[in-house]
Amino acid sequence: MEHGIADIQYCERLFDCFYDIGSTENGGVTRLGYTKQEDQMHEMFAKIGEELHCQVEVDEVGNTYVMNQPDREYCLIGSHLDSVIEGGRYDGVAGIIAGLMILKWAREDGLKLPIRVGAFRCEESSNFGCCTIGSGLITREIYKQDIGGLASKEGELLEQIFRKRNLNLHPARISGVRQYVELHIEQGKVLEESGTSVGIVQTIAGPRRFKLYLRGMAEHSGATPMGMRNDAMCAASEIILELERIGNKEAAYQSVATVGVVNNYPNALNVIPGEVELGVDIRGIENASLDRMEKTLRERAKQICEKRGIEYLEEKLSDIPPIDMSAQVQNGLEQAARRLGISSRRMVSGAGHDAMSFAAICDTGMVFIPCMKGISHNRKEFASILHICDGARVMYEYLKGGEV
Ligand SMILES: [Zn+2]
Repeated sequence: MEHGIADIQYCERLFDCFYDIGSTENGGVTRLGYTKQEDQMHEMFAKIGEELHCQVEVDEVGNTYVMNQPDREYCLIGSHLDSVIEGGRYDGVAGIIAGLMILKWAREDGLKLPIRVGAFRCEESSNFGCCTIGSGLITREIYKQDIGGLASKEGELLEQIFRKRNLNLHPARISGVRQYVELHIEQGKVLEESGTSVGIVQTIAGPRRFKLYLRGMAEHSGATPMGMRNDAMCAASEIILELERIGNKEAAYQSVATVGVVNNYPNALNVIPGEVELGVDIRGIENASLDRMEKTLRERAKQICEKRGIEYLEEKLSDIPPIDMSAQVQNGLEQAARRLGISSRRMVSGAGHDAMSFAAICDTGMVFIPCMKGISHNRKEFASILHICDGARVMYEYLKGGEV
């Protein structure tokens, strides 16, 4: 759809307001959750809210809300303002910009719908190894117990940080949310390659994460004959390729499997690898497929290690179930896109989002917009202003339909 010049300029202006915060020499941004840079992002968000003559509120865990009218029940449009280390400027921010644009349109149109735009703290797991902390705490959907004991990159405990900031690790559950919608960059290539303007998320894939410990024998690489070795890295290599096969086999169910971490000890040229740690991430939208992958991985890894005389240990780090978006919201967003003449398709989200926290407490939906070559968590991340406008328009059109 065609967007008015005023909308495009306003969207650009919002993007520019956040641009410099946390900029790094390489051209990316580092705005880790519960750090000064994330604070600055929230301060800027509050300032823009005030310019829009909206009320601004900060909750017990530091999430910031901009609202057009304080009301008992409201539609919540959310996303996050933190980033990964050396990340891009669109992940999270695009969703906040969309929310602000919707607030502006609602005011211009004299819409009576109560809307809040929420910026949730620490969505990325980069600082504490735990994602969606801000939205997880207020919905009580946090997936890890005792997160107060998690340490930041700087080595400070989350509970210390909360105490210093006068925040509450056990806040009251958020109330009055009639429904939750979020715009986010896709972080994949499906929309770009299919030439589609918006994606309507059906399910957010649930990650299961494991650490595998393989213990062999570190010996002299020159003095130990080939037939007398217990090489932990060779076992790891077999397991990595086996996991790829498992992933390929389950690809029909949109499942994926990755070994993203390899730690080799002692990691020396003249020593046979004695110990290897593998970090495994499997994701999918169907529990049965995830169960099969987990079971096969365990069986095969044990067989491989037994064959090679390697000790095998395994630790499950997380197990988040796939989370479905509301069918009603999906239908509503799809109809809204059709009314506006904006192309859309239904799709799954491989990455986690704040929307996961809200799905359990209210009707929840997500709109994806294309990002260049699917690049994300990278300084080269790029999404066009026109696509942000498209996604925001679809959400606004949908929300307008729910005006009471
Ligand atoms: Zn994000």
